[in-house]
Amino acid sequence: MKSQKIVEYGKALQEVNDPTPTPQGAEVLVRISHCGVCHSDVHLHDGEFHLGGGKTLDVRAGRKLPFTLGHEIVGEVVAVGPAAEGVKVGDRRVVYPWIGCGTCPACQRDEEQLCAKPRQLGIQVDGGYSDHVLVPHGRYCLAFDPIPEHLAGTYTCSGLTAYAALKKLGHVGKADPVLIVGAGGVGMMGIQYAKAMFGTKPYVADIDAGKREAAMALGAAGAFDPSDANEVKRFIAETGGAYGAVDFVGADGSFGFASAAVRKGGRVVIVGLYGGSLQMPLVMFPMRAISVHGAYVGSLPEMKETLELARAGKVEAIPVEIRELAAASRSLDDLRAGRVKGRVVLKA
Ligand SMILES: [Zn+2]
Ligand SMILES: [Zn+2]
Repeated sequence: MKSQKIVEYGKALQEVNDPTPTPQGAEVLVRISHCGVCHSDVHLHDGEFHLGGGKTLDVRAGRKLPFTLGHEIVGEVVAVGPAAEGVKVGDRRVVYPWIGCGTCPACQRDEEQLCAKPRQLGIQVDGGYSDHVLVPHGRYCLAFDPIPEHLAGTYTCSGLTAYAALKKLGHVGKADPVLIVGAGGVGMMGIQYAKAMFGTKPYVADIDAGKREAAMALGAAGAFDPSDANEVKRFIAETGGAYGAVDFVGADGSFGFASAAVRKGGRVVIVGLYGGSLQMPLVMFPMRAISVHGAYVGSLPEMKETLELARAGKVEAIPVEIRELAAASRSLDDLRAGRVKGRVVLKA
């Protein structure tokens, strides 16, 4: 099989030929048709995440080079191990990549995305910048029809992230305003999922006027500019404060807006990885009875719920540009330089 691999962190990916694996036990071999190029792949390729304030997090541990990135994987089951369950050869499936060890308490709670010994595809285990991928069990291979095949992979990362973060807001009533901060790719998914999940239009905050406009076109209830100091007051005057806010950016300014915009008892979920830090008087937590949560992708059951809403036509995928697998390295460079609109999807 042919893969585009990291041979050295930060250097161009290289094409590597390996023998195509034969699935053992419950394993499933998927011939990849499409794999999305995610912004987190850029950080994995660099070997570090920026934490804000000039600090970085080394993310090279737990991965042997050469390594295949890619966690937004779609394709066809072409071989199964003798103990495989849930899929058969010929099935077209999207692959849940956030795989855990399968036995620890987190995995037994169906929260394997939080497993301390993860086997995530494209993160610790070879992923989708390839023509084949080995999946440890058929339960990770999910039906996606009638979603177009080249779009299905976007739901395993941005779709799932948006859905699971919104779910952390808890029981949202019809009269409870929800605020989405950051109308990039994941935030745009968030607007659609919020409408589908809560039956109410969310409010949106973004520093970019074009993104605010796009959010309104997608059905946001109102749009606010977090870089304008008066906008939080206007938001609270108009809405009474948000029941819950999801920060899809994760920067000082976005969190500042989100935390100031929630009403008493409100919840802020941080899911963006932009990098920033939190400075807040602790007394505000009890006095306003607010809480702050972090969310990291989502569980396998949440993946199924995410796909269910998309398969029912309630959520449109983000715009994609299809490129050849050989363009993987160039695509990471384009993403790093901010030259990509929507999602690049590699076609194997
Ligand atoms: Zn991703
Ligand atoms: Zn585990």
